[in-house]
Amino acid sequence: MKPAPIPANEMARQTSLNTMGLLSIERDPELDRITKFAKRLFGTDIVAISLLDNDRQFFKSHVNLSVSETSRDISFCGHTVMHDAPMAVSDTHKDERFIDNPLVTGDPKIRSYLGVPISNEQGYKLGTICVIDSHTRNFSDDEIATLQDIAHWVETVIALRYSERSQKQLVSDLDTAQRDALIDTLTGIWNRRGLEELLEREISSAHIRNTPVGIFMLDIDHFKRVNDTHGHLVGDKVIQGISEIIASSLRDQDIIGRFGGEEFVCILPGVRLDPIMFLGEKLCQTIRHLGKVSNKNGDPVEVTVSIGATWVPPHIKTKYSSSQVLQMADDALYQAKKAGRDTVCYKPLDVDRALD
Ligand code: GH3
Ligand code: MG
Ligand code: MG
Repeated sequence: MKPAPIPANEMARQTSLNTMGLLSIERDPELDRITKFAKRLFGTDIVAISLLDNDRQFFKSHVNLSVSETSRDISFCGHTVMHDAPMAVSDTHKDERFIDNPLVTGDPKIRSYLGVPISNEQGYKLGTICVIDSHTRNFSDDEIATLQDIAHWVETVIALRYSERSQKQLVSDLDTAQRDALIDTLTGIWNRRGLEELLEREISSAHIRNTPVGIFMLDIDHFKRVNDTHGHLVGDKVIQGISEIIASSLRDQDIIGRFGGEEFVCILPGVRLDPIMFLGEKLCQTIRHLGKVSNKNGDPVEVTVSIGATWVPPHIKTKYSSSQVLQMADDALYQAKKAGRDTVCYKPLDVDRALD
């Protein structure tokens, strides 16, 4: 028997799988529907969606399997994910990789196998969907193409599930060490890494659902002067105060984070284009009026912010990356600074991507 090989990108692959939230034993009715559908279509004994998780293969959905996992080294799926193409084995007794595999010599006595890799949006192969029989079977080109279509369906469901997971879910999924790495210690909001992770998610989610996403990049005006005049501690209080104002001004589902020293990013899922400027101006106004902290003499330190706004439209052919979106918001912010500060500028993303 040839044990299932380990992919060269295994560490990154496993990390990516961990963040997908697929490893709970909780059933997913949509994935169960797919495996049942494949069973009816292929008429094989077994159908499974198998995920390669550390040293096990975990069956996220299956029909006619008596176990929910096996060790990875004896998995067929571990072989399938090494290739970009489907793997078909018509007779395990004639294949030296599998002839003495315990899943062949013992239950479920696999004799034939067809598996197609399942990838996530980052391109990592998470596992496979496979159809298995206890007798020999030649899989036709048509059957192979059909299972590839079904694999694509599984990938769409998995992407949708991932995108449905809210920021609160992300927080509860992470262990304390991982969470700390994504939260800004001064303000308690997301840090740059957390923001980038969530922006990527929101863009993917919006792309699947054909909904828009608005982005604000805020920068405190002349903040160096605040530090130079009142000291760093007052500067820190200003940063904290502004993060609280932003959080209380936006909706629950909006995501805010500290992108850098005195820069913040807000992600506004589902927001329409028309109110973007209004929302940005309102935020500038609120900070202008409320963003005051007291200096050591008890006098108010007044601050303003400049905002760069952009908007990811719905119904676009190809998805934007988080860095493209942030770059456009940053360009808009630069314009707001040039326009005299304490104001909002909006820059549209490339409209060529819009569907006709
Ligand atoms: P502009 O209006 O063009 O944005 O001017 P600015 O002075 O705000 O911008 P600049 O980039 O020159 O200065 C940003 C300052 O923010 C410099 C840096 O020392 C300060 N800063 C960055 N992070 C922190 C922080 O965590 N606490 C404090 N107190 N200051 C910070
Ligand atoms: Mg700055
Ligand atoms: Mg600044």
